[in-house]
Amino acid sequence: MALDKINFLSKEQIKTDKDSLETYGKDWTKHIEAKPLAIVFPKSTEETQKLVMWARENKIALVPSGGRTGLSGAAIATNGEVVVSFEKMNKINSYNSIDETVHCEAGVITEQLQEYAQEQGKFYPVDFAARGSSQIGGNVATNAGGIKVVRYGLTRDWVAGMTVVTGSGEILKLNNALVKNASGYDLRHLFIGSE
Ligand SMILES: Cc1cc2nc3c(=O)[nH]c(=O)nc-3n(C[C@H](O)[C@H](O)[C@H](O)COP(=O)(O)OP(=O)(O)OC[C@H]3O[C@@H](n4cnc5c(N)ncnc54)[C@H](O)[C@@H]3O)c2cc1C
Repeated sequence: MALDKINFLSKEQIKTDKDSLETYGKDWTKHIEAKPLAIVFPKSTEETQKLVMWARENKIALVPSGGRTGLSGAAIATNGEVVVSFEKMNKINSYNSIDETVHCEAGVITEQLQEYAQEQGKFYPVDFAARGSSQIGGNVATNAGGIKVVRYGLTRDWVAGMTVVTGSGEILKLNNALVKNASGYDLRHLFIGSE
């Protein structure tokens, strides 16, 4: 079976029990029935890349999943997909006080980043009622606006750089958190708002 070939994740990182399939297969649009094959929990970019390669080889669709607070059903797995939950990639790695940037993983909860910013005497303004559950990866994929968007802008305006695993399994490092980067295309903006 295809799932047996995911030998690069531990047993705890793969769930196929009924409760997990139902919980992680759906988002806030709860009326659509979830039918995922499995839920997986990568802990790094490299594990995510391996999952993409596995999915390509086995012709299985992946559904990235954040806090599942989206209201358009895009994180729902209805047809035997494997849901990739980023909840175990929830580390805030570092703060650069000169550039005033934070380096964090995709599964960091929006509120966690807001609180971290506050601890540094700063302010992360993307804010909405789902802040306690939604993740930065989900905010980026939806280019979330929130209740302060008119004054402070969209998530897009707060992303200084990003690491992306593409559908072909390439790892792209985009913009490297640079404030001034005038060379070439700014591909980060092709991925922000991907939903
Ligand atoms: C009460 C409430 C209030 C809300 N208010 C607002 C608001 O004011 N403004 C606003 O913009 N939105 C709002 N939303 C919608 C929702 O909270 C946002 O869209 C949020 O950004 C989704 O984040 P999430 O982590 O929950 O993503 P999910 O719902 O899990 O996923 C959303 C999309 O992102 C993709 N995705 C998730 N993680 C990743 C990743 N790491 N890599 C690639 N793709 C990924 C999913 O496949 C899906 O397409 C609200 C929702 C609720 C329930």
